[in-house]
Amino acid sequence: MHYFQYRQGELHAEEVPVRKIVEAVGTPVYIYSAATLRRHFRVFDEAFSDIPHLVCYSVKANSNLAVLRLLSREGSGADIVSGGELYRALKAGIPPERIVFSGVGKTEQEIEEALSAGILMFNVESLGELEALSRVAQRLGKPAPFAIRVNPDVDPRTHPYISTGLKKNKFGLPEEVALKAYLKAREDPFLQPVGVDCHIGSQLTEISPFVEALRRLKALYLRLKEEGLPLRYLDLGGGLGIVYGEEEPPPPEEYARALKEELSDLPETTLILEPGRVIAGNAGILVTRVLYVKSHPPKGEEPGRNFVIVDAGMNDLIRPAFYQAYHRIAPVREIPGEETIRADVVGPICESGDFLARERNLPPVSPGDYLAVFSAGAYGFVMSSNYNSRPRAAEVLVDGERFFVVRKRETYEDLVRLEEIPEGL
Ligand SMILES: *Cc1c(COP(=O)(O)O)cnc(C)c1O
Repeated sequence: MHYFQYRQGELHAEEVPVRKIVEAVGTPVYIYSAATLRRHFRVFDEAFSDIPHLVCYSVKANSNLAVLRLLSREGSGADIVSGGELYRALKAGIPPERIVFSGVGKTEQEIEEALSAGILMFNVESLGELEALSRVAQRLGKPAPFAIRVNPDVDPRTHPYISTGLKKNKFGLPEEVALKAYLKAREDPFLQPVGVDCHIGSQLTEISPFVEALRRLKALYLRLKEEGLPLRYLDLGGGLGIVYGEEEPPPPEEYARALKEELSDLPETTLILEPGRVIAGNAGILVTRVLYVKSHPPKGEEPGRNFVIVDAGMNDLIRPAFYQAYHRIAPVREIPGEETIRADVVGPICESGDFLARERNLPPVSPGDYLAVFSAGAYGFVMSSNYNSRPRAAEVLVDGERFFVVRKRETYEDLVRLEEIPEGL
């Protein structure tokens, strides 16, 4: 469900024609829908309304300050994975007591920043990190609340690059190692065990891996409670999938129902969830302009190939190149008729991996047409880069009949701002 719809053949973001935004801001541009973000958050949050829970939006999915502010107004917490994300979350007004800090490589400086800010808990991913956490806590004279991220060895059946809960993945600690670490931490007055955590992967389209992970987590949680540890939080991470094309992910209500069933005998526990993609993914599009259309004619056995060359590349949206991800692409102004061409939609970057779509059936587009790349609200702009010295795209937030530039398009000056040519070189 999202608010990007065609009216009289023109794509609208809520009440605003996309063309109007593009004419004011240029391309490529990311456009987010405030109503969609709010709706996704509410549907997700309300699905858990009958149990103690905290939704910590995963900042890495889309970390624009305006997006974070909007979600913070909805009551969201934040799941962060760096000091930079802590800075953003706090700046956007997310209360520290609703922030959890995940990630395998937290530096002592990042730990110190988060502990000073007073976050809810650290999701610790190694024994070395637990030691670092204790050191920093002693230094600050402030005990550190933590959960250990368990690697439950559950197959999320998703793309290998976004699968995180298997033994071979770098994330978390095996249950038996985590158990020992918790018991040892009891002797450390600067370590405060408050929960257990896991996150098994992203873009999951089935419920059973979540349930399996939750069962493992719950067994460890109960075992630790028996040992007298004062745990309160069960953090199941994020990962609920969305519709990009033909997927059929479970709706949040169904996901919630399955988890709540597992938790019915744990009334004193607060469930923490870290959704990212399911909140932001379908709340954003990337709009790009067609620059050229060209064809390579067939040669011998090899069929011909059509290319639609657009002004957005893998530096703007890396998901197709990086994960072989599918994004629906359609013209901003519908092209009447049944005719289609089969083409690769490619960017200007000097890499053969620079494509937004391959062998895609499209209406016959022409230079100057605008194309919308759907489902680009999560892992879109945040993964963009300046490769090929391309200024990063602008970001726009639509709210009803209004739209706001929430990040300006970068300039050439921005590209070199931090660089210096040594004197006399
Ligand atoms: C990326 C990530 C999430 C969010 O995943 P989605 O698939 O976007 O919901 C949640 N928790 C952790 C620890 C993550 O790394």
